[in-house]
Amino acid sequence: KGSDGKYTVTLIEGDGIGPEIAQSVKDIYSAANVPIKWESVDVTPTLKDGKTVIPDEAIDSVRRNYVALKGPLATPVGKGHVSLNLTLRRTFNLFANVRPCKSIQGYKTPYDNVDTVLIRENTEGEYSGIEHVVVDGVVQSIKLITREASERVLRFAFQYAQSVGKPKVRVVHKATIMKMSDGLFLNLGREIAKDYPDVEFDAELLDNACLKVVTDPTPYNDKVLVMPNLYGDILSDMCAGLIGGLGLTPSGNIGDECSIFEAVHGSAPDIAGKGLANPTALLLSSIMMLQHMGLHEHANKIQAAIFKTLAEGKTITGDLGGKSKTHEYAGAVIKNL
Ligand code: NAD
Repeated sequence: KGSDGKYTVTLIEGDGIGPEIAQSVKDIYSAANVPIKWESVDVTPTLKDGKTVIPDEAIDSVRRNYVALKGPLATPVGKGHVSLNLTLRRTFNLFANVRPCKSIQGYKTPYDNVDTVLIRENTEGEYSGIEHVVVDGVVQSIKLITREASERVLRFAFQYAQSVGKPKVRVVHKATIMKMSDGLFLNLGREIAKDYPDVEFDAELLDNACLKVVTDPTPYNDKVLVMPNLYGDILSDMCAGLIGGLGLTPSGNIGDECSIFEAVHGSAPDIAGKGLANPTALLLSSIMMLQHMGLHEHANKIQAAIFKTLAEGKTITGDLGGKSKTHEYAGAVIKNL
């Protein structure tokens, strides 16, 4: 927080529709008088010692400000390119990916009563990137589960449940098959649960969870689900489908020191530059960021204006069946503040 009473937050506008949806956030925040100063940084990779890396200025900015809001980054396909998203996660050790899944009133989906939270271990598991060819035609990929990373994300899940008033934490796993790796994760969950006696703990097999949540999501509404990396990646997108898809789904990547909040969708190159993008997912990610920063009053006010605009259904973007441009939708949110 600066001497002017404002918090500086790093803004990574990103590629494709990124600058357009970031503009909506900036406009709405200034209309709502949120005490935030944006520090825009460019994360276009540069070459350093033969490796593609994120520019130092961007890294320094996040380190200095602790909090960043990030638009989508296009991942170039092909050899030699690292995923910038993965690089950011590794650089800042963003160990937990938090994905709230809450139905939005006024946007009709198969269910209108979803309200669960998924927390995905973000640093290891099936995405450790340790793969090798054993012999021609045989590839081995290593799923790495460590006590340290598991304990960190599990503790975070219990603390998160307490902070948002969810009474239960559930580990989603396949310890029946992966007895040692998922077994370690599950057993740590049981152990750590003893430190949080006010939070109920249980566990469910991943396949069963998939079947149950699409059959009836309501039993998941009092729970925070926590799981290893790959399961979280898939299950959280499945749950996003239950509430209307990627244009509405926010997320937070939480680290020990720094946290980066981002929409889960990509850079949408097919509609970039046309003013058609829906900024809701980035906006809702910024609401998670405000809550993380303790700016609850501003968070509630902006969130209510977003939900009201969507529920009215008059000024919504094409992906939601409307005809409005990005800036028209942002204008309607501002009117509803
Ligand atoms: P995408 O999410 O960009 O697009 C999928 C479809 O959803 C497209 O039809 C797009 O127009 C639509 N869409 C997405 N966001 C929208 C929004 N806010 N408003 C309206 N419509 C929206 O997925 P993709 O096409 O597979 O990926 C494009 C690029 O984005 C790739 O380079 C990919 O690597 C990258 N990507 C980045 C992230 C991230 O930065 N977190 C996540 C996913 C994909």
